[in-house]
This record gives sequence, structure tokens and C-alpha cells, in this order.
Amino acid sequence: MQSRLASPPTTSIADALRGDFPALAQRINGHPLVYFDNAATTQKPRAVLDAMRRHYEEDNANVHRGVHTLGNRATAAYEGARDRAAAFLNAPAREEIIFTRGTTESLNLVATAWGAAHLKPGDAIVLTEMEHHSNLVPWQLLARRTGAVLRFIPVLGDEGRLDLTGLDALLRGARLLAFTHISNALGTVNPVAELCERARAAGIVTVVDAAQSAGHMPLDVRAMGCDFLACSGHKACGPTGIGVLYGRRELLEAMPPYQGGGEMITRVTFEGAEYQAPPHKFEAGTPNIAGAVGLRAALDYLGQVGLPAIHAQIQDVTAYARERLSEFRGIRIFGPREGARGGLVSVVLPGVHALDLATLADQQGVAIRVGHHCTQPLHDRLGVPATARASFSFYNTRAEVDRFVTVLERVIRMLKGSP
Ligand code: PLP
Repeated sequence: MQSRLASPPTTSIADALRGDFPALAQRINGHPLVYFDNAATTQKPRAVLDAMRRHYEEDNANVHRGVHTLGNRATAAYEGARDRAAAFLNAPAREEIIFTRGTTESLNLVATAWGAAHLKPGDAIVLTEMEHHSNLVPWQLLARRTGAVLRFIPVLGDEGRLDLTGLDALLRGARLLAFTHISNALGTVNPVAELCERARAAGIVTVVDAAQSAGHMPLDVRAMGCDFLACSGHKACGPTGIGVLYGRRELLEAMPPYQGGGEMITRVTFEGAEYQAPPHKFEAGTPNIAGAVGLRAALDYLGQVGLPAIHAQIQDVTAYARERLSEFRGIRIFGPREGARGGLVSVVLPGVHALDLATLADQQGVAIRVGHHCTQPLHDRLGVPATARASFSFYNTRAEVDRFVTVLERVIRMLKGSP
């Protein structure tokens, strides 16, 4: 079938940059790797691997305490990463950037520290039906601890847009609104600025889960107008074990600590402790210094490539994948049909078990993810136990989508037993 989409430029940024990612050059089961599991984690460019290796070989020491040269270098690198993350999110101040293990820990930090200080029985927390378990379970735990209640913004059909018609009623009397920027299961891009503005007008604190948008498009916490934003380094070409929580300064200053330990205090007696100002108040213990170094290298790399160009490439490959997949008879495709969408396509093929599909695809070098993608309540709502998800980064190409489609055709023939 002839593609309705405009032809891609003769050489895309993907062709130009794939060589920067050593993992992409390998063969899996005798086939060139097609890595379509980027929503789970992205591959790492050599610049990130080199920066981390150099850190351990030359600058390794603990931070914020050394009077020696290595300690000073490590501290400068760690705090330099904080400056870089602040610029990446256009945060008004570097003190508003807290390093965490990732999106999950960032969200737990807010739920624990902000929640404990602000919620009382009967207070409402508003979420959406499309949240990743990371942006659901911490609020369930908080609700259980405080007696607060959860309310959910509904998701409309397989296209997966939020039904905002009842938003005013849902927000009435609520204390906090937490929602994902881009759904990891549907690819829906939620209207962040509008949601934050409506919450702010009602005096409600906002938390944005940017796990799937960080590194995919330019992010600007001022333009979004959010109070908190959480993201993971490993989904943006950085290492695992490092993430960011952005928090508005006044809120961070008023919050109690998340964990206790070294680094987060100014003075300790047997009876009690005085705490540092943010961000250190929220970073107890030795942090992931090499992770921060790797994250900085990743953000520099993404900045050099250019986030608008990255976004355009992901949009192109995603639209192309959606169009090619629609050729399969009876396929059920989730997520927005038109307009902006995150870099993924989730599908159910009639008569084909998603796990069989992924296993056989892997035998032919194609890595996709199947399951509920940590959005089990959403899958319950959609009435499917599992979907097969192909998710893209800017190093993926239309040619890889074509290979994926060929592999799918072959797999379907095998599973249905036709020649
Ligand atoms: N939120 C969304 C939308 C995600 O897609 C993910 C990971 O897939 C997370 C949160 C959790 O991220 P992490 O496992 O890096 O903490």
C-alpha cells in the first residue's frame, strides 16, 4: 500500500545518529535489532557511557564533604548536573531540582512529604484513568494513610482522550491533581497547561508525570504552570537509577523531609535535627553521582540534537507505524487517531495472543513490549488484558517500521497456521 504520509527527508536524524548508540548495532537471533521498547527505557549514546566511565576513572569521590580535589570535582559535576536539569525543564531556580531514583521515586516523594503535611480525611486527590501504577499506587497509599479519597478523570474510548466535561465537579474541594503528560499505554498527549490552569484557579496543587515526554519534546515547567513534575533519566537516553523532581520553591520549603540521613541536615542532636534548605533537604545519603553525570551528558546530547527535531522524528515514525499497522485486518489500535501523540502504538490483533506475538517477534530481532504496561485499571476499562506496544525514539526509522510489519505478517501466519 502506498503511504498517505509525506515521504520522509532522504536522510533523517535517525540515520545520522544511530551510530552514536552502540546497542543498536547488534544482531538478535541472527537479525539486525529493531528496538521498539523505548517507552520502557531508551538506549544510551556513547557520550553518556563515556561521561560515566570518565567520572569513575578520574573524578570518583563523595559529594558535598570533601576538601580534596576529587571531592570538589565530584561535587562540581553533581551540582552542574542540577543546573543542566534546571535548564532542561526551564525551572526558575536550581534549588527546585531534586535528584531521585526516577519518576516513581519523585512521585512517592511528593505523595509522602507533601501529602503527609497537607491532607486530612475526606480531602480529594484527582487522577486520571490512564495513570501508570507509579502515579496511582503512591496516591492510594497516601489516601489510606490520611483518609483522603481518590477521584478519576475518565478516558474516552480506544482513542484515549480525557473526558474533561465533568472536570469542574471533580476538582471541587480537591487538594491535588496528578496526571500524566503522555500516556505510556495510549500515547495520548494531555493538555498540561490547561489542566494546570484550571487546577490553579481552584487552588489545587498539580503534579505532572513527564516520564514519557522528557527527552521526547521540549519541556517548560513555567509554560506548563505545574507545581511538581517528575521524570526519569533512563527514558531520555540517560542511565537508570537517576531521575528528577521539579517542585515549586515555596512548596518544597514548606514540606517536611522525605527520608532522613546524612546530607539533608544542618545540625543533629540525640533529640532531633534541623534540616537543610531544598534541594538537599530531600536528598538524604550519598546520591547517585555517576547517574547525575550520565544524565547531564544525556541532556547535553539531546540539546545538541535539538528537542524540536527529536520530536518531529518521533512524530513521523509514530504516524507511519500507525498507518502501516492499520493495514492488518481486524486490528484494534489504541490512542489518538489524529494530531499530537506520544511515540508509541498499542494494538490488539484478533486471535493472536500478545505474548506469543512478542516472543516470535524477538526471534526475528524485533523488541516490543506486551502486557498491561503498568496501567492495569486502564486496561480493565478498555476491556483487554494486554496490548502489544511498539514505542519509538528518535533513532528509529520508517524502514524499521516496515521490517516490524513484515515480521508481524510472518508471525500472524505462523500463529494462525496458514502458509
Ligand atoms: N509514569 C509513566 C507514564 C511511565 O511510563 C513510567 C515508566 O514506564 C513511569 C511513570 C515510571 O518510571 P520509572 O520506572 O522510571 O520510575
